Amino acid sequence: MRAILPKTIITCAVTGNLTTIEQTPHLPVTPEQISDACLAAAEASAAVVHIHVRDPKTAKPSMELEYYRDVIERIRAKNTQLVLNVTTGPGGRFVPSIEDPRVAGPGTTLIAPEKRVAHIAALKPDIATLDLNTMNSGKEVVINTPRNVRVMAEIIRAAGAKPEIELFDSGDIALMQDMLKDGSLEAPILCSVVMGVKYGFQPSPETLLYARNLLPADATFTGIGIGRFAFPAVAQSYLAGGHVRVGLEDSVMIDKGTLAPSNAAMVEKARRILEDLGGQIANATEAREILGLSARATAARRIA
Ligand SMILES: [Zn+2]
Repeated sequence: MRAILPKTIITCAVTGNLTTIEQTPHLPVTPEQISDACLAAAEASAAVVHIHVRDPKTAKPSMELEYYRDVIERIRAKNTQLVLNVTTGPGGRFVPSIEDPRVAGPGTTLIAPEKRVAHIAALKPDIATLDLNTMNSGKEVVINTPRNVRVMAEIIRAAGAKPEIELFDSGDIALMQDMLKDGSLEAPILCSVVMGVKYGFQPSPETLLYARNLLPADATFTGIGIGRFAFPAVAQSYLAGGHVRVGLEDSVMIDKGTLAPSNAAMVEKARRILEDLGGQIANATEAREILGLSARATAARRIA
């Protein structure tokens, strides 16, 4: 059994990898826009921000170290306590060529696991995500082999970052359990149950409870809903004893037919949902305590 948490952490995922400026003109793209979106989300009571970067010229996803560094330095110049959660998702997609499926076709981003976490080693954020899925995703395939995720986990650990394990289907939980057993991951685990990615966990209260019940008893989890499931997932995760996440990475609508004007507006809506249900929102300092992150070490940390 899990109780509703006394304090709920709101994470804001401000830009992501898949949302496009064609879908919403409010998507932050440049390092300045991304850091501003993070700071505004924090003002609206997000304790954690989840960061991807984009090429300012094309608005396409980027893995460029200097963009990450720029975003983090801009945030830290104004807010030392906000918990920074940085993606390691990019670099895992494979599109087989039509003629020979062993050969990578256009759209493939798959690269060596060490390169996917190079920015984590360099910048040492509080949290780094670690995707455990190998699955069909839209028209593509995401590949995260058991060997490669262990390589990434080790580099994340060496950087002093806490891994946030992204779970897209129940088999990913089995892999997480194996990694806990062999010491590639350490308990208590921090994880997210991502519902609504096409061909992953199907979003429903049953799915979230099923996934939650497979997690170790001491795990901290966030139930994430993609697209129109974003805000229902806020209530579902809260009621199931989890934390919550919203933002333009996960959905572009704030209501049916209405584009979200900003990430901050989505955080405000999540806050309203939680407070209407009787919840209390964790601030960044409280979130550090809940997640086992050091407040002082992070506040004093300088980016190399
Ligand atoms: Zn992300």
